Parts: sequence; C-alpha cells; structure tokens
Amino acid sequence: MVKIYPQSVVGRYRTIKNRANIVLLLFYFLTPWLRWYRDENAPSQAILIDLPTRRAYFFNIEIWPEEIFYIMTILIIAAFGLFLFTSILGRIWCGYTCPHTVFVDLFIKVETFFQGSRNSRIALDKMPMNSSKLVKKLLTHLVWGGLSFLFAFGWICYFYDAPSFCHDLFLGRLDTAPRSWLFGLTFTTYILAGLMREKVCTHICPYGRFQPAMLDNDSLTVTYHSWRGEPRLQKILNKNSKLKNFGDCVDCYRCVAVCPMGIDIRDGLQMQCIGCGLCIDACDSVMSKLNQPLGLISYSSINLTEKLKKGLKAQVKLIRPKTVLYTLLILIAATIILKNLLDKSIFVLSIERERGPLFTTLPDGDIRNTYNVYIANKALKVKDICLEIRGVTNALIKGNMMHMGNTYQKKLCFPIEADSENRFKVFIKTKLDISVDSEKKIYLYCSRY
Ligand code: SF4
Ligand code: SF4
Repeated sequence: MVKIYPQSVVGRYRTIKNRANIVLLLFYFLTPWLRWYRDENAPSQAILIDLPTRRAYFFNIEIWPEEIFYIMTILIIAAFGLFLFTSILGRIWCGYTCPHTVFVDLFIKVETFFQGSRNSRIALDKMPMNSSKLVKKLLTHLVWGGLSFLFAFGWICYFYDAPSFCHDLFLGRLDTAPRSWLFGLTFTTYILAGLMREKVCTHICPYGRFQPAMLDNDSLTVTYHSWRGEPRLQKILNKNSKLKNFGDCVDCYRCVAVCPMGIDIRDGLQMQCIGCGLCIDACDSVMSKLNQPLGLISYSSINLTEKLKKGLKAQVKLIRPKTVLYTLLILIAATIILKNLLDKSIFVLSIERERGPLFTTLPDGDIRNTYNVYIANKALKVKDICLEIRGVTNALIKGNMMHMGNTYQKKLCFPIEADSENRFKVFIKTKLDISVDSEKKIYLYCSRY
C-alpha cells in the first residue's frame, strides 16, 4: 500500500475545515451529556437509543419499535439533503463533515505533531529503526489508540445513559455487550482512520462512486483552470527554455503535496477527490507569492469555468430542476413526519376476536367469546382504563390477568402501567337469546380516565 504524506497548509479552506472539525467533534461528544427531564421512570438523556427497552428518545419525542417509520423518514430527509448539497456544492459532505474525514484529519495532525512535516515523515519511514524512530512511532500509535477509544466511547454514550456508562467503565463493571462494542469500535477506528485513511474513501465508501449521478454542469467541484494554468512553466522550461509563452501553473506540486487523497487535481475531476479545498489553499499561497491572481484552482462548475474563460462575470446557479426536485422531496418528507408527530397517539388499543369456533357454549347455557387485546400506554404515567360491551344487554366481561379480578363484571377496569405494552385475553359471556340494540352495533368500548 502506498502511503500518502499530506503536507500541512494554511488558508481559507483549511480554517473552515478546522472550525468544522471542532464544532462537529464537540457536537458528537457533548450531545449524549445533554439532560432532558421526562419522568422518574424514564431516562433523562435528551438523545438516547435505549436498545434493552427498545425505545429511542429525542428530547420530547419517544419512538417505539413500530414507529421506526420516523427514523426511516429522518434518514430519507438526510439522504435527500446530501443529494441537494452535492448537486450544488459537490462533495462538501466528504471534505468537511464526514466522520471519517474529521477523524483522519485529527490523526494526521497527531502524526505531524510527533513525526514532523511531510519531508520528515517520509525520511523517518525510510530510515532503519532506531530508538528515536521507535519513540515517535509508539507515541503516534498510542495517541491514535486513545482517540479511537474516545470515539468508541462517544458512540456508545448514544446507546447508554452517558453518566452511568462512564461510572460503570471506571469501576470496571461493564457488561459483555458494551465491552465488546467498545473494543470493536476502538479497533475499527484505529484501522480505518489511522492506517487505511484515504483507502476507505476510494475502495470502501460507495458514495464517491455514485456522486457523478448527482452532479451537473452547474455543480461546484474543485477545478484546476487549465485554460489559465497551461502550459506549465516547468514542463516548458525543461523542454525548451527559450519559450516564454507559459501559463500560471509553475508546476511546484504543492497542490499534490497537500492533498490527503494523494491525487493531482490538474488531471481533472477524479473519483478520489473529496472536495476538501486544501489544494486551493496551497495554490493560492503560491499565486500570491508570484503576484498572480488567486483561483488557479477553485470551486467552480463547468458552466462557471466556461464563462470565466471568456472573461464574463459568473454566478452559481442554485435553482435548477435537480435542486428543486430534491428540495420538494425534503419538504414532502418533513411535512409527513411533522404531521405524524402532531397526530402521534400515546395510547394504542387493538382488539381481535380469537380464531376458533364462532362461540363457546358454557355449562350453564350461556355463550362466550374470547378476544385478544393489545394496549400500549406510551405516556409516562399510569392510566386507568375500562372495557365494557355496548349494544348487547346483559353481556359480562372478564380478563385473564390477575389484577383484573376473576369474576365476570359489567365493566372491566384496571390500571395500565406507564410506558408499557400489554397483551391479554378478555372473555365476554351472555345469554343465548341476546337482545342486540338495533340502533347501535355491538362493540367493545374502552374508556380512559
Ligand atoms: S484534489 Fe484538492 S480538493 Fe480534492 S481531495 Fe485533493 S486537496 Fe482535496
Ligand atoms: S499549486 Fe498551483 S502552481 Fe503549484 S503545481 Fe499546483 S496548480 Fe500549479
């Protein structure tokens, strides 16, 4: 495997990247520590996916397993959001916000801190092992391991109450499941962000492969303006030193040296380019030293480049069929999820007659039917409910749970625990010669108090 040694660079996009990294890392690590009081019976973590109880909590919203639809819709909105941003700004997600990019950036900073600049790192890797090399390598890998552990720890905090998880971790009381997750995620982060780096984007992540489908002639991508840069100075000087007619590119290879993907953007847009803009910073610093206009490499679209070539003023075209379509799809999905959230019921009741004979004749001559009842109380408080038959005179009801009593009654009243699902049977008996209220249909009536 060829190792890439990205050179450090300063500039506008490097600063944006640094700030984005800080904000995203703070968001990632601090979010599980946000508290949100619900009830003494419910967790007080604002965002939590509680696998043992099969609940997801987002501030005031509690999602049950059968409501996975909400999570799917949020993922669909996120996917269309990604398509929208890609169609306008190219691979902005990959370059600035993808967790892998953020961690690789952090790992490269650690490597630079302990092993020095790009040239020092290349020289260090070439030299035979000695004590200084061993110490530098060991320190780098130790800090990488620590960062990988932190990443794994941060991730698991979304699935456990963060303070309790911290407490159990320090006291060595973690169960097998969180311990395995902690180990597995630490190991994979170390391998992916520390050792594989850009190979993950090129060979594992599918996004780079299907991104051309989202781009059009107005999408911004990192572009080398060959019409301005070519022919390159070095190329010409090497071939024919008398020639003076050369472009702005001095063939310094600085844009290649800073690229975390190890590509030469002057070869045109490539699948490996994550659109991080670091080559723009590198080239701009060269151009400013040479007193040349900046922007030999810049974020540009095919149409923008055509206009720039002709010396025309150009603006990014935001409203296009693709962007309108993605925006509409996002709005539709957001409206659906909002409507469902507003109509979300905290009480679910379903009653089905048990399969089998139409009715059972009891020894005293009465007839009986059996029903399967499902009641979910999604509220965080106990609810008292009553079940009764309406439309049939003299019908009596009985449940098969202990707390419902063991006798037939006119009305079956019982408490439903907070945040609980309940499945039980009810038996309804009546005389054979029932009198049915012709006005009303026969129905099992549930009232809540
Ligand atoms: S070519 Fe430029 S924008 Fe693309 S990955 Fe390399 S440095 Fe980033
Ligand atoms: S940094 Fe700019 S001038 Fe140097 S090789 Fe790259 S494009 Fe040419």
